Amino acid sequence: MKILKNVGGILLGVIGAEFLVSGMVEVISPRSQVSGGVIAIIFLLGLLLSAGAVALLKRSVTELRPAQCTNCGSAEQAPAGVLRRSHNPWLYHLCGWMIASLWGSSRQQQVRCVQCETLYFTETRATRIAGILLWVFILFVSLNVLLNLLVQQ
Ligand SMILES: [Zn+2]
Repeated sequence: MKILKNVGGILLGVIGAEFLVSGMVEVISPRSQVSGGVIAIIFLLGLLLSAGAVALLKRSVTELRPAQCTNCGSAEQAPAGVLRRSHNPWLYHLCGWMIASLWGSSRQQQVRCVQCETLYFTETRATRIAGILLWVFILFVSLNVLLNLLVQQ
């Protein structure tokens, strides 16, 4: 069920973003034929879908297992000290800075146990949120590439 909720939330987020961006494009475009009322409905739908996405994804971000040392079980932790930037230059050039930076922040953080000095990886709210945004962004870009291809034919 949890996976279904996450997938559903991400899909709602993608469609919501699509509505919001389409609405914005119509507002900006000087040759827009779409009336203000229709644009308002597009924005409203976009906001409703985004709110639905947040509601579905909220628990997966807030309900994190408390981070515990894999060796002694202590919850006390400090930053690992080693600056471990998961920066991927290949990804950076291929997909742009947006995906590269979200990818970097969605990786689990390395921390050091205060009790026994063991190094281990842990998830935080920030890594979860970045992971969700990464999926929404990738699917959003894919959806628009696909729509462009369909329109051009
Ligand atoms: Zn420990």
